[in-house]
Amino acid sequence: MRRVTVLSGGMGGARFTAGLLHGIAQGLLPGVAPDAEVTVVANTADDLWVHGLKVCPDLDTLMYTLGDGIDPERGWGRREETWSVREELATYGVEPTWFGLGDRDIATHLVRTQMLEAGYRLSQVTEALCRRWQPGVRLLPMTDDRVETHVAIADTQAPSGRRVVHFQEYWVRLRAEVPAEQVLVVGLEQATPAPGVLEALTDTDLVVLPPSNPVVSVGTILGVPGLRDTLRASPAPVVGLSPIVGGTHVRGMARQMLTAVGVEVSAAGVGLHYGARASGGLLDGWLVDERDADAVARCETAGLRTLAVPLMMTDDAATAAMAAAAAGLVAER
Ligand code: GDP
Ligand code: CA
Repeated sequence: MRRVTVLSGGMGGARFTAGLLHGIAQGLLPGVAPDAEVTVVANTADDLWVHGLKVCPDLDTLMYTLGDGIDPERGWGRREETWSVREELATYGVEPTWFGLGDRDIATHLVRTQMLEAGYRLSQVTEALCRRWQPGVRLLPMTDDRVETHVAIADTQAPSGRRVVHFQEYWVRLRAEVPAEQVLVVGLEQATPAPGVLEALTDTDLVVLPPSNPVVSVGTILGVPGLRDTLRASPAPVVGLSPIVGGTHVRGMARQMLTAVGVEVSAAGVGLHYGARASGGLLDGWLVDERDADAVARCETAGLRTLAVPLMMTDDAATAAMAAAAAGLVAER
């Protein structure tokens, strides 16, 4: 195998891809050449406009993580960040105050916004930004169109009894502490895949669904019209890794999102939600954590080839081992 495609959200997908690249370079992945090329199709439904700037959190997390510019403690944003602009904005009392834009990070958003306003497409802008960051992968936004995830939450003050907030407000300001009643992905049905995205699913040797959020990361990517059907028809094997370990997410808010869309919050629940290709789903193989070994029999019964291995991305070596197990599971198909 010389070509690998990953459908990624932000932090979980970026850490996975870093370990995947490490594993490929070390020749640790069964059947995958050490010079194999990796394409990452990134979720863009977390994007928002803030203070006049176009911010793409998942694309940036991927770019900064793989380009060695990430703040390793926070897991998002730039290393050695300063916050002067945020402080100045707060002094003016300008909303939103809850979305933290660092000074270094703002440079990225300024370049992106300027290029978009000059008429470039998001995929072209991403390519330009990657010339600086050299992420070691081909990084593609899922679409060049504007798509934004919103979350419906209960609000006793509102006449309808509920209120809809942008996904970033749900996650950053509300810290996903209130139950999500519905996930609405505005613009998704009208979106078209960005250039190169469908080819990345068909002209490849392996497709990986990393342990990214199954609803608001991988789910939105798969929801771009044409994408799911193209993946289902792809000759390449598709393997996934569970973001749910021991019955909940490792970090983030996958539990809340899965609950909102009525999917059981478990490694088996997510595997069966993606589904076995043999029964109309997407997956040829599914990895769950050792703690979720009970999921194996359940998934296998549904025709999904499943293996339990350690799935904690503690460092690149551990993550590379996960990637190797994923490749191995479908290589022997
Ligand atoms: P986001 O866009 O920053 O939320 O990142 P992703 O959607 O790419 O990934 C978020 C998911 O990664 C969450 O659902 C976590 O449960 C999962 N995750 C984070 N760290 C780990 C880990 O070490 N192991 C596994 N299996 N999942 C993880
Ligand atoms: Ca995200």
